[in-house]
Amino acid sequence: MASHVVGYPRMGPKRELKFALESFWDGKSSAADLEAVAKDLRASIWKQMADAGVTLIPSNTFSYYDQVLDTTALLGAVPPRYGWTGGNVGLDTYFSMARGNATKHAMEMTKWFDTNYHFIVPELGPETKFSYSSQKAVNEYREAKQLGIETVPVLVGPVTYLQLSKAEKSAPKGFDLLSLLDSILPVYKEVIRELKEAGAKWVQLDEPILVLDLEASKLEAFKKAYSFLGADLGGVKLLLETYFADIPAAAYKTIIGLEHVSAIGVDLVRGAKTLNLIKEFGLSGKTLFAGLVDGRNIWANDLAVSVTVIEELQQALGKENVVVSTSCSLLHSAVDLKNETKLDAELKSWLAFAAQKLLEVVALASAAAGKKDEELFAANASAQASRRSSPRVHNKAVQEATAALKTSDHRRATPVGTRLEEQQKHLNLPILPTTTIGSFPQTPEIRRVRREVKSKKISEEDYEKAIKAEIDSVVKLQEDLDIDVLVHGEPERNDMVEYFGEQLEGFCFSANGWVQSYGSRCVKPPIIFGDVSRPKAMTVFWSQYAQSVTKHPMKGMLTGPVTILNWSFVRNDQPRSETCYQIALAIKDEVEDLEAGGITVIQIDEAALREGLPLRKSEQADYQNWAVHGFRITTCGVKDSTQIHTHMCYSNFNDIIHSIIDMDADVITIENSRSDEKLLSVFREGVQYGAGIGPGVYDIHSPRIPSTEEMAERARKMLAVLESKVLWINPDCGLKTRKYAEVVPALTNMVNAAKQLRAEL
Ligand code: GLN
Ligand code: ZN
Repeated sequence: MASHVVGYPRMGPKRELKFALESFWDGKSSAADLEAVAKDLRASIWKQMADAGVTLIPSNTFSYYDQVLDTTALLGAVPPRYGWTGGNVGLDTYFSMARGNATKHAMEMTKWFDTNYHFIVPELGPETKFSYSSQKAVNEYREAKQLGIETVPVLVGPVTYLQLSKAEKSAPKGFDLLSLLDSILPVYKEVIRELKEAGAKWVQLDEPILVLDLEASKLEAFKKAYSFLGADLGGVKLLLETYFADIPAAAYKTIIGLEHVSAIGVDLVRGAKTLNLIKEFGLSGKTLFAGLVDGRNIWANDLAVSVTVIEELQQALGKENVVVSTSCSLLHSAVDLKNETKLDAELKSWLAFAAQKLLEVVALASAAAGKKDEELFAANASAQASRRSSPRVHNKAVQEATAALKTSDHRRATPVGTRLEEQQKHLNLPILPTTTIGSFPQTPEIRRVRREVKSKKISEEDYEKAIKAEIDSVVKLQEDLDIDVLVHGEPERNDMVEYFGEQLEGFCFSANGWVQSYGSRCVKPPIIFGDVSRPKAMTVFWSQYAQSVTKHPMKGMLTGPVTILNWSFVRNDQPRSETCYQIALAIKDEVEDLEAGGITVIQIDEAALREGLPLRKSEQADYQNWAVHGFRITTCGVKDSTQIHTHMCYSNFNDIIHSIIDMDADVITIENSRSDEKLLSVFREGVQYGAGIGPGVYDIHSPRIPSTEEMAERARKMLAVLESKVLWINPDCGLKTRKYAEVVPALTNMVNAAKQLRAEL
């Protein structure tokens, strides 16, 4: 039986590509140096898959930045502002599109479905000309072949590519991106032909857009695209790959009817319902690439369970028509467990990173072919059993407390308007109060101090002294700037999730479990492996200290349960909602400890609330219900006089505005500076929002210092749709990535803008 992998991480086990890219961008190494690192990485990945015994190994899943941008290069769809004049798209043009250059801004970046990977959004219009402009797919195929490895070249499919694009600014209103299908298909056909001439037997076309709720007209595009691409191909088989959710029934029926498609790849981890469609409607003689090994997580596969599913599929479709695969590209998992030296053996036995997932795919294929590796299956079964029963995973008290939550809605008793009045009696804030989002610049000294206490190079006392000194100076700065509600600056935190995960039970941390987020940027998500509890207070000490050195209100600063959940690798042995409620209980205790410690304003960041929204519409309401409930659990026990803030890093929230209101925070600060209009439209449409709201007036993602007038003007626009008593003046997000030289003048201007507006009111 064949085994297949949808795609593989590109960064390398020690983030080799990241460092090569950054050194090239800094001008410290040449393009040839970068290319050499890339070539080595590709070779080692292909060899690793071949050695593991994978029979259908992907190529062209490597990328210098992003696979969608690679497709833009392939099609020669370079936006005119980069001055590209045709020929091959070189590294200069490529990186200008990804990152901007001295004179041109970068193309927009957005989330790849519901993952934390971000792609570069193509900008297309009726005038865009397409031509075959990057031989990357063919070159990679040949490169592997020279190493003696036969591969399956992978392309982002044409329909998904167009659906994920945006109309360029000059395009006429209502421009239909799918109208470009006829223009891009010939280029796709040229590539596929060239791949065939080079010897390729399969070409994989990734069409994850199929898992969304597509209208009939969009499904028609698949018929057109694949009858064009597949006609007179002779010899090359097309694999249509889908992932990230169930395939809706209508889409399923469309794709099994595609005459020229030989195989269909499905995600059977997140798309368990697809299994029913397969059993009911069959696959019209096509081969099924059964995505059983989870590409979105780091858990070892339960091999015995997977074997049962394979047997069912073989019965339904015929033995020869099933290939074992991953649920999606392994890009979204960590790279190799081998490099984890600090995790204990038991924990490691529960995990599988990308390298281990290769072995799982092969083990399943062998077992299905009657050559079961008994030893491996036995070890897997005993690891699964230990995970099911381990006291490290299961905490009865936590489970009972969580179960009890479901009977109540957890709402604060008093309506927000009344609470705000009560809070104002104590806070005495001016109209249009100013605040910041939490972090202040993380200087090299602060990072060093944190590193050194971790490695025991400095004592706890010295660490405490250094952090207190930093808090002193951040407080003094805010007082000098005349900001109304202060923050302590978060100098003790490396990361807003890791900081809490490290202090909670049920979490563990990898040393090298990096996952690409965008370009050279990687994140290392915590791993939630067990029931979550809080052994002791996590932030009270620093918040109380910070409050003790100022008369202004000092915000306690927490990360909310939904964000902790969405930015971690979450256990797969219970529903996500269950894990969210457990974290919520821990944060609730922290909120109450802060309140008891004299902190009267508490901010609970839910930066990632929007991120967890499921792809399928039918699942969205349920998510919003439990996520918002999780947030309310954290705040329902505080006094009316305690002001709860929340913060979100997502401006395009028109679709979840009712959930945001339902969170019932007293004040929300939100990212806004890149899209005023979207936010304004929510309020123009008459949405009632009685709580305080601070749409960011200063874009902290850019080193640019906005003027007083610019910020005042943006706030004026808000005042046109919001009552002045609810508006707050603040930046978009935390300041930790900025420098003091930028932050001080920007905040000075921001406070001046607030003062100017107060004078106008
Ligand atoms: N309080 C956090 C900070 O200021 C919020 C960060 C975020 O929203 N991503 O850094
Ligand atoms: Zn933010």
